[in-house]
Amino acid sequence: MPWEYLALIFLYGTVIGSFLNVCIYRLPRELSLLRPRSHCPHCQHGVAWYDNVPLWSWLALRGRCRHCGQSISPLYPLIELTSGLLALHTAWHFGLQGGTLLLIGLGFAFLVLMVIDFYHYILPDVITLPGILLGLLCAFSPLGGPPLANGETAVIGVVAGGGGLWLFAWVFEKITGKVGMGMGDVKLFAMIGAWLGWQSLPLTLFLAGVLGSVVGIGWILLAGRDRSLPIPFGPYLVMAAWISLLYGKEIYRWYLA
Ligand SMILES: [Zn+2]
Repeated sequence: MPWEYLALIFLYGTVIGSFLNVCIYRLPRELSLLRPRSHCPHCQHGVAWYDNVPLWSWLALRGRCRHCGQSISPLYPLIELTSGLLALHTAWHFGLQGGTLLLIGLGFAFLVLMVIDFYHYILPDVITLPGILLGLLCAFSPLGGPPLANGETAVIGVVAGGGGLWLFAWVFEKITGKVGMGMGDVKLFAMIGAWLGWQSLPLTLFLAGVLGSVVGIGWILLAGRDRSLPIPFGPYLVMAAWISLLYGKEIYRWYLA
């Protein structure tokens, strides 16, 4: 793919990333995405367009509000950079085809879910429920089929993903008396089933378990995290789903060999 295309796709990703920041800040606080316009949460001063350029503005302002000097979280440029790289890598991996744009959109939704769950322990229904519906619609559209699910594998994916994880959570709660997984994880797993098809669910769950354990144990041992604190599962489910979407075939082939 010509480098000009890739540069454009990266820029497009950072611009969307700027909007994803708005979603990440406002959705868990149940604020409107459209109004009011971007403003500094400290001094309430509006953010001018030239101070809202993805990546660049944060660097130019050295991470501080132009008006009150309050520091701006480095999470903002980090999300913009991640969105840019996500779009770039997805386009590079799958090439320029109709489904690629959908996959980039799915990646953006995953990114928002991951960060919100990490900080707030919730996976907002306003993303997961339309996410399930949209995944099913795409599967039944002409864009359905590899690497996305087709109609049949998507329907089974929703039922097996949502139902299976719900059952697992129910049994876990009965046995241990503790709530191990929330309904948010159940809906997220159904959404993953709708987009990737049921075949990708076992690998996704396995990878999420491995990632979650490694990070969780590392966090407790190296960073001294209180082990009684809950560890959100959503971020690992999302990362695992993305890995199985991009490299699932290779992983299965390697495993079978
Ligand atoms: Zn300010």
